[in-house]
Amino acid sequence: MITMLDAPATGNLMNGNRSFVIASILCLHDTCFLYPACHKCGSRLLLNLGRFHCPKDACESTAENTNYRYRLSVKASRENEIFNITVFGSCLEPYFGTTAGCLHSTLPRPCK
Ligand SMILES: [Zn+2]
Repeated sequence: MITMLDAPATGNLMNGNRSFVIASILCLHDTCFLYPACHKCGSRLLLNLGRFHCPKDACESTAENTNYRYRLSVKASRENEIFNITVFGSCLEPYFGTTAGCLHSTLPRPCK
């Protein structure tokens, strides 16, 4: 399968830089492509005693303001090169057809 991804370059995650990649996706690293994200920093929220909280001390995310974010981790190939790439955020919305929050609300067994 050939696809085009507007993705943060591997090794530069979460820094806002984006790279345009044309590659063949060989496989998904996991099937959970959504995660509960901190509304301030985008980190994965941890569930503790029924409440979400951000692992970063400066953030105070709670279940009331939890949003969901896309995270797609794949093994891909381009020419003779095989590499791992992880794509985060709203640049995946065109591929799924909706926001991560809307998709999460329709899943019978949501990702945790
Ligand atoms: Zn945070």
